[in-house]
Amino acid sequence: MPELPEVGVPAWIPGLPAVARDDGAKEYGAEKERPGMTGSLTIVGLGPGTAEWITPAAQAALDAATDIVGYGPYVDRVPERAGLTKHASDNRVEVERASHALQLAADGRTVAVVSGGDPGVFAMAAAVFEALEAGPTEWRGLPISVEPGITAMLAAAARAGAPLGGDFCAISLSDNLKPWDVVTARLEAVLTADLVICLYNPISKARPWQLGKALELAAKQRDATTPVLFARAVGRPDENLRILTLAEAVAAAGTADMATLVMIGASSTRLIAREGAAPYVYTPRSVAKMPCATSQGRT
Ligand code: SAH
Repeated sequence: MPELPEVGVPAWIPGLPAVARDDGAKEYGAEKERPGMTGSLTIVGLGPGTAEWITPAAQAALDAATDIVGYGPYVDRVPERAGLTKHASDNRVEVERASHALQLAADGRTVAVVSGGDPGVFAMAAAVFEALEAGPTEWRGLPISVEPGITAMLAAAARAGAPLGGDFCAISLSDNLKPWDVVTARLEAVLTADLVICLYNPISKARPWQLGKALELAAKQRDATTPVLFARAVGRPDENLRILTLAEAVAAAGTADMATLVMIGASSTRLIAREGAAPYVYTPRSVAKMPCATSQGRT
């Protein structure tokens, strides 16, 4: 376990080394000079798709970069310009990609590692810190920062109304990095807790059945009429939002894909009908009591 900070800016602010103070406490961020380290690394969230959803701070980090590192389709979203080198890689090699980015920064480059949505949500920020933890000690002297982006569940929620108005959680259905029984144990726990559940990585060619299983688990605990949102490619030209009941969602699981965010409502999540338009989906902020489980779902 790393030693915890005693004073000053918390140690988790990346790239800020501790310096001892006269009174024996440690201060973070006071040391400006890092001999031999002229490069830097920023992990940048590009948002779900449209450039309008990139923050000005994320855009500034992209504009300042000499090198863009990331999964091909995200790297492609950064326009070419003189002096910019792009390093596109395959989807599956996150930690190698992160190590490459750290080494480029250690070599003096101004590196932006790009992620879709928010880089801290099932994405490259954790891969960079994993590589940093395992890598050479000198990498820890690099200024590393994270520029947040709009994550898929927030973009999807905004399109639908206010489904995340109460308590909610996010679970990745991918079992590439964790066993499936961990996924089901977590799902059962949050179903019992009556949280709205956002499912990232719901399905892929290599993982065709997991979403169906997750929705079947949900249908055992939640009412068949619970609203479920299939939000696909939000913020992109092919955006598509479907509002289903839980029973319909179980049957439609196979129609989701890797670009879909699935949101399962809580017991209080409901629809507000509109003339000639899709209903709004919303979850009130107030909760009167925990619903009781019945054999038909919840009451
Ligand atoms: N860092 C990303 C998530 C990476 S995991 C973020 O913060 O959004 C990849 C999963 O995110 C996809 O399988 C899908 O479930 C979801 N996702 C990413 N972009 C999306 C979009 N534009 N619309 C809907 N879901 C999206």
